[in-house]
Amino acid sequence: METVDVVVIGAGVAGLTAARLLAGEGRRVVVLEARERIGGRVHSDRTGGHVTDLGASWIHGVDGSPVAEAVAAFGIRTVEFTVGSYQVDSRPIAYHGADGHRLDDDATRRFAADVHTVDATLADVVAGSGPTDTYRDVVERAVDLQGWDASRAERVREHLEHRSEEQYGVPSDELAAHGLDDDSIDGDEVVFPDGYDALPTRLAAGLDVRLRHVVHSVHHGDDGVEVTIDHGSLHAAAVVVTVPVGVLQSDDFVIEPPLPERHRQALGRLRMNAFEKVVLRFPERFWGEDVAAIRQLGPEGRWWHSWYDLTRLDGVPTLLTFAAGPAARAIRGWSDEQVAASVLEQLRRLYGDHVPAPTSVQVTAWHDDPFARGSYAHMLPGSTTDDHDDLAVPVGGRLHLAGEATWTDDPATVAGALHSGHRAAERVLGRDVPIARLWSGALSGTT
Ligand SMILES: Cc1cc2nc3c(=O)[nH]c(=O)nc-3n(C[C@H](O)[C@H](O)[C@H](O)COP(=O)(O)OP(=O)(O)OC[C@H]3O[C@@H](n4cnc5c(N)ncnc54)[C@H](O)[C@@H]3O)c2cc1C
Repeated sequence: METVDVVVIGAGVAGLTAARLLAGEGRRVVVLEARERIGGRVHSDRTGGHVTDLGASWIHGVDGSPVAEAVAAFGIRTVEFTVGSYQVDSRPIAYHGADGHRLDDDATRRFAADVHTVDATLADVVAGSGPTDTYRDVVERAVDLQGWDASRAERVREHLEHRSEEQYGVPSDELAAHGLDDDSIDGDEVVFPDGYDALPTRLAAGLDVRLRHVVHSVHHGDDGVEVTIDHGSLHAAAVVVTVPVGVLQSDDFVIEPPLPERHRQALGRLRMNAFEKVVLRFPERFWGEDVAAIRQLGPEGRWWHSWYDLTRLDGVPTLLTFAAGPAARAIRGWSDEQVAASVLEQLRRLYGDHVPAPTSVQVTAWHDDPFARGSYAHMLPGSTTDDHDDLAVPVGGRLHLAGEATWTDDPATVAGALHSGHRAAERVLGRDVPIARLWSGALSGTT
């Protein structure tokens, strides 16, 4: 049986970060990756010569972000696009009222001010919430405290429902009251005109990454770990497991002996979400040039309420929208054409029948992907923010869980994945390693 110092399971950002830092410190590291590509939930498609990020798109705030630092150090191009966190008014957004007509600047400002008012109240309401309260419970309380008339209150309630869906891919009555606590950004947001996958590609350079290696089980004990794949197994002193929560929860991935109670409790309070991207390219930019996003208020926007103008990436008129929460669940099994027709019905309601047919449509299916089982994890009611970090507590000094869902401060992001990989590497080594070694350190420990 092949023996190395550390086996890393998963070649997403968390796994590649851990592996790169460990190899840089002289450890013999092998990365086992089930797919035929690296990157995991960072996946840039290049069909038809267009770059489409089917997984992560944004760095949610570049200030103090090691992802932004890494990207800058690697010379990867980015474009500013600060509408990636369901902000109500960060950049020009074309709001349409419930009747489909565009709101004027005054009405837009009044609506945004209402959302900010509730947000300010919400922070205190969440802080005072009970352990099983949902995000919907706290929103209800925060809106009720304003004493507004029904329609004014309803527009804000609806915005916050869509925030839960778009940020975490879950209706607000299935999200913990604290489920959006991490939802703030520092500085501008940026996207990647050449594809976000440039980051994992750079992280993987020089590492021993073995693609098409599906791990079935991890046995750990006093004599180290044994990791079993289809055609054999590897032995190592330590293992870093970065598979998504949905894979960890499945019977297809066995950890023996099973994770301790604390980990199992934490894992049971997290769930993979329902969140898919729909990217539509058009022959013309029928929505005008002065907006970063389009949004519609009211019941017609139940599923399709927000569209992001990605034209800035390569000049091709492109809109990104999300099937999030209930919409993502409902469209499972639909063809791309059915999804496009449903989205176009709403766009034509706002812009008229002259809205042309799209030249291409891409709809993701992360939920059906056996190596993702959803887009990212969210906190169920009853969970605490500590559940994320609890998952990463080392087991027996040799089994380390990492990945977006194990990072309390910024879960569900590439930043969370990167931080968690850094932490796992430090724990394997038993000492600190500057994160900057990721982009400035030389590799010495690859096999
Ligand atoms: C649609 C979508 C939009 C998103 N938008 C953003 C965004 O704009 N900004 C942002 O910061 N984040 C975003 N995210 C989240 C971000 O992509 C993830 O948080 C991050 O990439 C997770 O990295 P990871 O290394 O933890 O997990 P992953 O990238 O999932 O890596 C885990 C790896 O393990 C592999 N694996 C799974 N099972 C096995 C097995 N049995 N054996 C071997 N290997 C296995 C997988 O194939 C995968 O490569 C988005 C995600 C999605 C899906």
